[in-house]
Amino acid sequence: MMLFPVRPPGIVKLFYPRFTWRMNPCERKVYLTFDDGPVPVYTEFVLNKLKEFGCKATFFCIGSNVVQHQELYKRIIAEGHAVGNHTYSHINGWRSRRSKYLQDVKRAEESIASDLFRPPYGKIGLRQANDILKKYRIIMWDVLSYDFHEQVSPEKCLNNVITCTRPGSIVVFHDSEKAFPKLREVLPAYLEFLQKNNYSTGVLSFENE
Ligand SMILES: [Zn+2]
Repeated sequence: MMLFPVRPPGIVKLFYPRFTWRMNPCERKVYLTFDDGPVPVYTEFVLNKLKEFGCKATFFCIGSNVVQHQELYKRIIAEGHAVGNHTYSHINGWRSRRSKYLQDVKRAEESIASDLFRPPYGKIGLRQANDILKKYRIIMWDVLSYDFHEQVSPEKCLNNVITCTRPGSIVVFHDSEKAFPKLREVLPAYLEFLQKNNYSTGVLSFENE
């Protein structure tokens, strides 16, 4: 039986204290994030649901997807959401040299205007991170939905996010093909949960707490 830590272990946070894991715990606000878009159908679904519930989110975009789906990228911004850099080719920091990693981030900068960054797979070396931190705020998470994982059912996924959500939570979902079978069920139910429990949603920025 595999364990899925919805919340990142404390030791990881100690190791990376300069990363952002959670926002202001005194405000009843949740920070929704969607990784790996923009992709037609999936990102559109998310945008429509967010609009329906009057919620805002931050989209960590893959550069190559932005190049292919410019209109969708523009729509994200036009609808008042924030965007972040998630590298150009979804590169794994633990398996790439620093120069190659930074090059991929830089390539994504050509199409993504943001000072927020999230490392793909949450995997980044300390030296890579130190370089990125000169220019970016690195956003990790407080709640990981596992919407991308085959062994997690939609019910389990919803239950995970609902039980772990607390004021200031940064929650990770994916606007991707892989996550969609779960996301299409979980997202509307989760947004309803937020509404019923008086949580508002915020967009991430370089300065906000
Ligand atoms: Zn990703």
